[in-house]
Amino acid sequence: MNAASRRESEGDDRPLLILDVDETLIYGADADLDRPCDFFIGIYHVYRRPHLAEFLATVSEWFDLAIWSSGGADDVTAIAERICPPGSCWKFIWGRERCTPRTYFNCKFVEYVKDLKKVKRLGYNLNQILFVDDSENKLCRNFGNAIYVRPYFGDASDNELPPLCRYLASIREATDYRAIEKRYWHNH
Ligand SMILES: [Mg+2]
Repeated sequence: MNAASRRESEGDDRPLLILDVDETLIYGADADLDRPCDFFIGIYHVYRRPHLAEFLATVSEWFDLAIWSSGGADDVTAIAERICPPGSCWKFIWGRERCTPRTYFNCKFVEYVKDLKKVKRLGYNLNQILFVDDSENKLCRNFGNAIYVRPYFGDASDNELPPLCRYLASIREATDYRAIEKRYWHNH
């Protein structure tokens, strides 16, 4: 039995929402900003994006949730455990080791690309995966699954997650997320 039919036979056919971490769900600063941080991870002063708990609690009713960051696995796991919605758990927590390094030789820059073919192997249909990220380059191989958010740098008045939640509510029952034009979701 392949992974897809195994998920189906287990009655686990909910769509998957993968979330980036840094500048999408939280901001990790080197020092406190204009207010005390929410918690520490290693040397980082971590700020939850405003409305994060409500956002995660709501979307966990509709989607399987997973975390995929290009940060170090230990930090990513620690953050994911701190923000996990009550009564829910992440389908997976992946860090940089699951990304595909793509080197730009001319500027000596490495981009850590998140390639959804690795998620497909878990049994998820690509038509039923959404990926929320603040970085377009990280999802260059699967832009049809992407919903881009404005990066979060600790602004206490940030209001990105409530409209994102409403947008997800409006498309969550679609049969093929990749057929939906999502680049202009802010205007929804
Ligand atoms: Mg990010």
